[in-house]
Amino acid sequence: MRKFPVELEVRGGVLFFGGVSAVELAERFGTPLLVYEEDKIRRAMREFRETLSGLGVRYRLFYACKAYCSLAMAHVVREEGFGADVVSMGEMITALRGGIPPEDLLFHGNFKLDEELRFAVEQGIGTIVVDNAYELERLASLAATQGGSRPIPILLRITPGVVAHTHRYILTGQEDSKFGFDLESGQALAAVRLAMRTEGLRLRGIHMHVGSQLVSSEGPVQAVRRLEALLTSVPEFVPEVLDLGGGFGVPYVVDDPHVPLRDLLVPVVEAVRELFSRLGHPEPELWWEPGRRVVASAGTTLYRVGGVKEIPGVRRYVAVDGGMNDNIRPALYQAQYEALLANRPLDPPEALYTVAGRLCESGDILIVDHPLPHPQPGDLLAVFVTGAYAYAMSSNYNRLPRPAVVFVRDGKARLVQRRETIEDLLALDLPYGFGDCETAPSEVPNAAARKALETRGAPEA
Ligand SMILES: *Cc1c(COP(=O)(O)O)cnc(C)c1O
Repeated sequence: MRKFPVELEVRGGVLFFGGVSAVELAERFGTPLLVYEEDKIRRAMREFRETLSGLGVRYRLFYACKAYCSLAMAHVVREEGFGADVVSMGEMITALRGGIPPEDLLFHGNFKLDEELRFAVEQGIGTIVVDNAYELERLASLAATQGGSRPIPILLRITPGVVAHTHRYILTGQEDSKFGFDLESGQALAAVRLAMRTEGLRLRGIHMHVGSQLVSSEGPVQAVRRLEALLTSVPEFVPEVLDLGGGFGVPYVVDDPHVPLRDLLVPVVEAVRELFSRLGHPEPELWWEPGRRVVASAGTTLYRVGGVKEIPGVRRYVAVDGGMNDNIRPALYQAQYEALLANRPLDPPEALYTVAGRLCESGDILIVDHPLPHPQPGDLLAVFVTGAYAYAMSSNYNRLPRPAVVFVRDGKARLVQRRETIEDLLALDLPYGFGDCETAPSEVPNAAARKALETRGAPEA
């Protein structure tokens, strides 16, 4: 059998996930179906904790919700002792309702809306990562109107001017970035000074995130070193916290490097220790915000195979019943994947097939020229490592419903997000007409958010 970027479980000639047959999953829940092996998610989170505990650092971990956000995921995140990094009202409410306490949330984003900031402050969201001067200003006035209650804990997001080796769409640490205060121009220094003297704000430290899908510690290490000039210029600022973001890479295809977590963490920890001891500062608490590394490899998408066609001398195509609406990564980042026929994984490959989605775009291709046995309509195609940034970025393009999501564990499957229905899609549409419809019902965002929170802590169905 060919090698794959994930370990496979084959029983009786069928692919299994968490002890459940892929054929049974597809029959029970339909396709396309996103299947998460819950143990793999938990193991990935434990690996972070165990590695960091082994290094003897003070640390905190926040799961970056944007990679895959749901109530079930929030539940697992809390059980594994992680906090969560959230970037919107939607992620905040999902995390809170999933049982993550407000103090374990980290609020990110380059344009947090007024109502989101107000909500975060009201709810006592743990830390706000301030991205820019406008936000600092708005938080200061929010702190002033709050009057006397606890100062708002913040970190400042700094772009260290480091270009990590990854796709440019997921680069975030370079000088020319929409994120954060630039270091080189002195904006970061000005922000530190301003934040320190702003009443009502408590500047706890610095945040830097240089990019995603990193397979070397080089970028984060450079970023840490670049802090020296800043910290030397404001000796009265001793960061309690240094948040180094996420970005831990995973292998998507068998030729991708599998970099042990230790190799990504140890050099960064050493660089921090070296810098802080040189400055005579106590070692800060180190925070990380992994997203992809927690969920990517735990997820597999199951598709049903439709038509197969061969253009003689050109290419063979196999169509599946999903595509760029459930996984935009190939179209957006030229991301690569590996796949297997889940109902007959032991059949040897017979030819190269290009896996096409069913959406009306020529760019709707999931995998180019992948070795497969000749697929037949009705076969099940498993595409591996789809747990991060696939469902999270899904859309209703072509008016397609989003797939269902199941968690599997110990031979049991549990539906955690039901398949969208056509009714769900239509539910947002209002009838056409200019009579009574001029004041279409629209919710006051905060009121709706509070209402959504009322059921917080209630046992999930
Ligand atoms: C995207 C992002 C993360 C998570 O990145 P991964 O590559 O999924 O680990 C963490 N922090 C910030 C600020 C991010 O933007």
